[in-house]
Amino acid sequence: MSINKEQYLTIKAQLAPHAVELIAVSKTKPNEDLQSLYDMGHRAFGENYVQELVDKEASLPKDIQWHFIGHLQSNKVKYIAPFVHLIHGVDSEKLLQEINKQGAKQNRIINCLLQVHIATEETKFGFDGPALHELFVSGRVSQYPHVRICGLMGMASFSDNQTLLNEEFSLLKSYFDKAKLAFPEGQFNTLSMGMSSDYSLAISKGSTMVRIGSLLFGARNYTKN
Ligand SMILES: *Cc1c(COP(=O)(O)O)cnc(C)c1O
Repeated sequence: MSINKEQYLTIKAQLAPHAVELIAVSKTKPNEDLQSLYDMGHRAFGENYVQELVDKEASLPKDIQWHFIGHLQSNKVKYIAPFVHLIHGVDSEKLLQEINKQGAKQNRIINCLLQVHIATEETKFGFDGPALHELFVSGRVSQYPHVRICGLMGMASFSDNQTLLNEEFSLLKSYFDKAKLAFPEGQFNTLSMGMSSDYSLAISKGSTMVRIGSLLFGARNYTKN
């Protein structure tokens, strides 16, 4: 178990000119690995599993910004609501309602990204273009005062077909640019797209936040998806 420090510095240097934020995806990795990156000055970590996130939050430094990037079940929102920095995968209005409810209980406003389905695989969660548009024009998002919608998140297809990935990232960027108009200046500013295998392309397509795991921490002990 160890982190790739050189790779970390290389990625940071690559992101800096574009002002893209790096989320270190640490799911399945031991606390020591997170601590090593923390000791290099890194603060933003992404996790996919609620119990694992809760355990790590309890034992690692308090100034870490925890990003929840996995599929979140409504009945588990309460466990992360007290501390989560940004929930990336909000894929239904029901979930948005629950986050709002738990935000109210915690007396905080929880930052969220709406997840958009852009990939060809059917298993990936998220709003499609029309559903997203409908949600924004309906004005219903203003009914959730304990939620701050900061932008969109998406996952491209599990493929190395650059043309396909290009189209998917461009589509997500076009939704982002359009949705932005429905929010006050400065609020809707985060486009979370790009992972270890496709982050360079994602940046060229307008990503503002990349979620990188295996390049930093090494391969995980299960296959993607
Ligand atoms: C695991 C995961 C990542 C990181 O994947 P890598 O290929 O290891 O960089 C990014 N985003 C989401 C939603 C993930 O589940």
